[in-house]
Amino acid sequence: MAEELERFDAEGLRTIDDSVAMAEDLVCNHYKMSAAQWLRLRYDIRTLADLAGDEIVHGPFAQVIRYEGKPRGTQLGSATYDFYKICLQDHAILDALRAFPELALGSFSLYVIAHELIHIVRFCRFLQHFNASADERMAEEARVHARTRQILGRLALPGAEAVLDFYDRWMEPMDRLPESPL
Ligand SMILES: [Zn+2]
Repeated sequence: MAEELERFDAEGLRTIDDSVAMAEDLVCNHYKMSAAQWLRLRYDIRTLADLAGDEIVHGPFAQVIRYEGKPRGTQLGSATYDFYKICLQDHAILDALRAFPELALGSFSLYVIAHELIHIVRFCRFLQHFNASADERMAEEARVHARTRQILGRLALPGAEAVLDFYDRWMEPMDRLPESPL
């Protein structure tokens, strides 16, 4: 049950807010998108407190769920749009921070959020289908990790090196968990 899982505290949530702003900037700049283009990506980033039961997973640090949206007040049958919800899994992130004390929430969550935003940019540009085969999803996962590493690697950000190290050493087996959605 969601209530039993550990959540970010107030300070953690402020750190997440900072990471969201920074990740949006970095990914937007990397893909040379204008502010208007970026606004056309429809997504939301939520932490555990705002997740429904079926949005919570065990293992992955985040998952992206695609919903179908419909502009308010429109007629039946009118155009729908894709809406993505990045569901941060507080409990999994906090577990990782405990198990790997060299990781800091700021740089670690920056990686996780930038990674998920890259997925969304690629879905929206049709570089990747949401319902791809398992093999294709694994290949895409590797591409998105490589891109995330490229973006974060350029930053002189305290803690970024530890995060990249962590992904080098540990993430491949963890990503192979069958419950890892993306
Ligand atoms: Zn991914």
